[in-house]
Amino acid sequence: MDRRFALIIDPVDASESRGDFRDTFTRVDAAAPALSVGELSTQRGDGVFESIGVIDGHAQEVVPHLERLAHSARLCDLPVPNAEQWRQAIEVAAADCGEGEAVIKLILSRGVEHGPTPTAWVTAAPAADFRAVRRDGVRVVTLDRGYDLGAAERAPWLLLGAKTLSYAVNMAALREAKRRDADDAIFLSSDGFVLEAPTASLVLRFGDRFVTPAPNGGILHGTTQLSVYEHLAAQGFETGYERIPASDLTRADAAWLVSSVRLATAITAVDGTPLPVDRALTDALNTYLLSPRT
Ligand code: PLP
Repeated sequence: MDRRFALIIDPVDASESRGDFRDTFTRVDAAAPALSVGELSTQRGDGVFESIGVIDGHAQEVVPHLERLAHSARLCDLPVPNAEQWRQAIEVAAADCGEGEAVIKLILSRGVEHGPTPTAWVTAAPAADFRAVRRDGVRVVTLDRGYDLGAAERAPWLLLGAKTLSYAVNMAALREAKRRDADDAIFLSSDGFVLEAPTASLVLRFGDRFVTPAPNGGILHGTTQLSVYEHLAAQGFETGYERIPASDLTRADAAWLVSSVRLATAITAVDGTPLPVDRALTDALNTYLLSPRT
C-alpha cells in the first residue's frame, strides 16, 4: 500500500445490531487533522488498542484481536466495542491495503475529557520490512518488570493483562535493550519468572515440547502465540502454558518472540549467552504465519 489512512468510527452501543455499519465510518488521510486536542488517549494513554497484520489485503486473526480488544476494554471500564461494527471497519480498511504486508491498528480511547462517548478509530499503514529480522533473529536481554507473578490478580488496577495505549514503559524497555547492545527485551517478574517481550510473546522449545508463560501472570495472551500453538499441535508437538523460571531461558533448545506484524523471530542470545537457532522451524513458522489465517 502507498498511503496511510484512518477510519474514524462513530461508536455504537454493543447491543445495536444491524447489517451495515459503513455509514458510521469517516475516512481521513493519515496526515489530516482528525482528533481533538482534548483526547485522553494522547493526554493520558487512557485507552486500548490492537495491531493486526494484513497480508495482500487479508487481515489476519480478526476474531481473536476483536476478542482481546473487548477484554482490554472491560478491564479498563470502557464500553465494550460492537464486534460487528469493528469487523466491518477492519474489512473496509483491509480492502484498501493492496499487495504486501500492512498493519491495521484498532484504537478505542476514553474520548475527550467529560465527553459523552469514547473515541474510536482504525488506522492502516504499510508494515516495516521484517524479512531480515525473521531470517537473522534477535539478541535479547532480560529486564525486571518490577511486579511479582501475583500482582495482576492482587492489583487489577495496574491493568497488566490489558493492551492499553500506555506503552511508554514498553518503549523504554526496548531503548534499554539497545543500550545493552541487544535488539529486544524479555520482561521478568520480580520473583524471577519469564513474562513477555515489550511487543511480543515468548515461545520456548524443549525437545518436542513447546512452552509459553501462562497469561494469568499479568501478560497479554498473544494471538500469534495461539496461532503458532494451533499449528504446532496439528504437527503432533506438545504445547503448554507454564511458570518458567528465568534460568530456563538458556536451557531451551530454541526460542522465539512472536507477534502479529513482525511474526516469528528466533532468539539468538539471552544476556550475551548464545541460544541454538532452529532455522528450518523458524522459516516454517513464518511461512505459516504469512498464509491467510482466520
Ligand atoms: N505482548 C505484548 C506486550 C505485546 O505488545 C504484543 C503485541 O503487540 C504481544 C505480546 C503479542 O501479541 P500478538 O501476537 O497478538 O500480536
